[in-house]
Amino acid sequence: MLIQLSRILSQDGKREQFEIPIEMDRFSCRVGDFAIVRKDPMQLTIANTGRRVLRIEGEAKLVISIPCARCLEPVNTEFDISIDREVDMKLSEEERLEELDECGYISGTELDAEQLLYNEILINWPIRVLCKDDCKGICSRCGANLNIQECGCDTTELDPRMAVISDIFSKFKEV
Ligand SMILES: [Zn+2]
Ligand SMILES: [Zn+2]
Repeated sequence: MLIQLSRILSQDGKREQFEIPIEMDRFSCRVGDFAIVRKDPMQLTIANTGRRVLRIEGEAKLVISIPCARCLEPVNTEFDISIDREVDMKLSEEERLEELDECGYISGTELDAEQLLYNEILINWPIRVLCKDDCKGICSRCGANLNIQECGCDTTELDPRMAVISDIFSKFKEV
């Protein structure tokens, strides 16, 4: 949704509130393409703080399905986004983009709420998503999800620490 800023810019101290339905159903970025499984309308307050500076504050809640980093099972990941930005409309679009390393969400006097939200999701993207803290991951041999089944593959030789232990055991047996 595009928000027209000219009315807010026309008067110092002017402040407007918006409830914006989120249009996007998927979130695509460099690391992949993810389904948005739940989304609440974004709340946005835009205020003219004077000298053509806008303060943009808001909140958005959404749930994105992200695969577990170990077993690849989809994990519903909550995003509780809080927006607080200041935009100097005296700067040109290019100057603003140089300041922030991101896609512009203001063009002329229009604010693209979807693009603003996109940037915020990217900032809030988790470093790693796990289905549970002790996720066992998938077997490096057969690919079985080890949370669901023990596949019985012999993977001991792949772990040098385990090899040392089995050495000790075999020495005991010799005695
Ligand atoms: Zn997992
Ligand atoms: Zn296996």
